[in-house]
Amino acid sequence: MSAPAQRPITREALVALDRADPLGGFRDRFALPPGVIYLDGNSLGALPAATPARLAEVLTREWGEGLIRSWNQHGWIDLPLRLGDKIARLTGAPPGSVIAADSTSVNLFKALSAALALRPERRVILSQPGNFPTDLYIAEGLARLLGRDHVLRLAEPEALDSSVAVLMLTQVDYRSGRLLDMAGLTAAAHAAGALVVWDLSHSAGVVPIDLAGSGADFAVGCGYKYLNGGPGAPGFLYVAPALHARLELPMTGWLGHAAPFAFEPTYRPAPGIARAAVGTPPILGLSALEVGLDLALAAPIAEIRAKSLRQTALFAQLVAQECDGLGLRILLEPERGSQVALAHPQAYPIMQALIASGVIGDVRAPDILRFGFAPLYVGFAEIWDAVQVLREVLRSGVWREARFQTRAAVT
Ligand SMILES: *Cc1c(COP(=O)(O)O)cnc(C)c1O
Repeated sequence: MSAPAQRPITREALVALDRADPLGGFRDRFALPPGVIYLDGNSLGALPAATPARLAEVLTREWGEGLIRSWNQHGWIDLPLRLGDKIARLTGAPPGSVIAADSTSVNLFKALSAALALRPERRVILSQPGNFPTDLYIAEGLARLLGRDHVLRLAEPEALDSSVAVLMLTQVDYRSGRLLDMAGLTAAAHAAGALVVWDLSHSAGVVPIDLAGSGADFAVGCGYKYLNGGPGAPGFLYVAPALHARLELPMTGWLGHAAPFAFEPTYRPAPGIARAAVGTPPILGLSALEVGLDLALAAPIAEIRAKSLRQTALFAQLVAQECDGLGLRILLEPERGSQVALAHPQAYPIMQALIASGVIGDVRAPDILRFGFAPLYVGFAEIWDAVQVLREVLRSGVWREARFQTRAAVT
């Protein structure tokens, strides 16, 4: 039996959804340029309207006037753990278990290294072949550095066995948007005697996450995607409190020392997650990240999730309705984060033509057009408008023009 025919979606229906949207008020708290439909918040979140003033204050008052006194007077030294606690609230982690620091790649190196140290008799890091490249590269490099025959095995989590020290997974696949079952896979890893490192880069801020409830051992994530911390914002690292006492981190910098300003000649780790700090924290980056975190914390995650699921489903339905026969393959994961992938052999020039028309998404090799839906600032009617632009780009063939063929360094 075929599914009952759906009534066509109209722009009016989407305008009505915008009017009733409980998150609609957040749009004005972002500074988006006019004429742009921004469907790439999964790659670089939009600028919060309050960030420029906050950064100006940090620059002129805290740095310019306060100078070095601001480490104490303006609490700069506490920022990594203070923001860590805000990220903990967003990810279902207890206070004192998250630090905002370094990049996701560096935090992954720290987490993986610490996890391997807790399973000294095992040699395998298990991850999925489609995991984000930096995650795989970091694991590869760490295995080589350790020089103890560690290997990175790329397979599905079903391949868990007694040789696996660490299962390293990304909760939402960067290309397909597929969402993994954090609690179930963590339990499976633990049953096999392995630890788990979760990468929350494409899920933090947009998917309800329960780090404590799922029993995750380690997690890392990104500050510049759905957390809107700005380009190159610090990432974060979570370590389950039960592991803190035995936690051995590979980079023993002075700010992870128990008493950095005692200037002792030998390393003594700070208690808890504080030992995961390495060097001096980037205050400008952390200050911008805090504005993004405060916005994310102001919106109920259940509403963000409901809107995200609705928007991704509507986008896929609309593409099917409006772009039928135009060569797109819709890859909508039933269990997904907040993005939709459309496959087309000419993904790159098509995306360049879309961007030239004000619809910003991105491409992921070889053939994926990727559209992210950040529920705090993407409206429903914009989804209609974006799909009309997509249809026109495909129908007219404008993407064939030479100006859309040249590949830039960042796609
Ligand atoms: C975005 C992303 C990263 C980014 O790592 P950086 O160190 O910030 O460049 C890492 N892992 C995943 C899964 C990502 O999506």
